[in-house]
Amino acid sequence: MADQGIGTRCVQGGYTPGNGEPRQIPIVQSTTFKYASSADMGKLFDLEASGYFYTRLQNPTNDYVAAKIAQLEGGTAAMLTSSGQAASFYSVFNIASCGDHIVSSSTIYGGTYNLFAVTMKRMGIEFTFVSPDCSDEELEAAFRPNTKAVFGETIANPALTVLDIERFAKAAHAHGVPLIIDNTFATPVLCRPFEWGADIVTHSTTKYMDGHGSGVGGCIVDSGRFDWTAYADKFPGLCTPDESYHGVTYTERFGLAGAFITKATAQLMRDFGSIQSPQNAFLLNLGLESLHVRMKRHSENGLAVARFLKQHPQVSWVTYAGLEGDKYHALAQKYLPDGACGVVSFGVRGGRAAAEAFMGRLKIAAIETHVADARTCCLHPASATHRQMNDDELRAAGVSPDLVRYSCGLEDAADLIADLNQALA
Ligand SMILES: *Cc1c(COP(=O)(O)O)cnc(C)c1O
Repeated sequence: MADQGIGTRCVQGGYTPGNGEPRQIPIVQSTTFKYASSADMGKLFDLEASGYFYTRLQNPTNDYVAAKIAQLEGGTAAMLTSSGQAASFYSVFNIASCGDHIVSSSTIYGGTYNLFAVTMKRMGIEFTFVSPDCSDEELEAAFRPNTKAVFGETIANPALTVLDIERFAKAAHAHGVPLIIDNTFATPVLCRPFEWGADIVTHSTTKYMDGHGSGVGGCIVDSGRFDWTAYADKFPGLCTPDESYHGVTYTERFGLAGAFITKATAQLMRDFGSIQSPQNAFLLNLGLESLHVRMKRHSENGLAVARFLKQHPQVSWVTYAGLEGDKYHALAQKYLPDGACGVVSFGVRGGRAAAEAFMGRLKIAAIETHVADARTCCLHPASATHRQMNDDELRAAGVSPDLVRYSCGLEDAADLIADLNQALA
């Protein structure tokens, strides 16, 4: 499968039915699984045998879909979570605990920023936020002896900055820590961060992967390439016995290919239970089957709309990495050669009030917190997703008060442009 094209992997990956088995991924709508003997079940609990026992930790439907996403990203193991937030939390908390430190790009999703800067801070994990455009020296200065990971987004929501993944991976590796990339907006169709040195990838599958606004979900994929054992003192949770699992050492038992995801399943899913429902995993798979076709159309619409807005006198600025002359165009050419997704940010002349009035006049684009969907939608982040931030934090997150995030769906670009044109007039 790894040598097949991204489209073939979208359609065929993860699930190969045998003779007489269902063609479509079965929805295993069962909380529990039956065993003949207590001894059989005990082996599962000791992680000596693989199998299912309780859907709070694992379910076959989820595993088929996670396997497809692992193939799309070129990873060795993956798990589905109940939301993108759960994926971001697990990806960090799996390797960092109280007293540890993380370096993160400052232009990340507002929910992730709050998770890191407020909630995980309360758990004793410190975050240093650096601009994705920071100098090598500034990036270097952000690291501490207790740093456990670097975090960033391929295409940031909603700032639309493009991260120089290779540069951030090199800095992370020089300090013996992994680079975690939230690849939600790019999807593996447009960018595969492992090819540029990232070690762990997360997704809000709620966005393009599902693509139809039907199910909230998340995913974590491991490249299997980060050598935890080379920095065993930094990652005791992976490299020393887990007493809550009868002394299993994840890197020894499951190797680099499986240690991270097995630990996140065995410990974090067991204790927090943020698993995706099998129903949602089934819907997610329907979205994945057309992801390669949809991302192409989203990106074409994004570029057409960005070009239209760029020349419109009522628009003060446009950010779209696929647009010629954009600050991130060179990085987009390197990391996103097949398209820069459907999300465009821009400012309406007249600031916050003009932005809100303009949005009220749009007929096709609906005002939603949602983004990256088949139906065009738009949002004013300063009064919605980012409203907990003060002006300085907004600026650091790349969100100005007049910013409108416009998410091009799969409609005809000409109709989207006509709608924008009448609302701007
Ligand atoms: C939406 C989003 C999240 C959070 O995902 P949910 O599924 O809403 O929990 C995380 N990262 C990015 C980039 C997002 O767009």
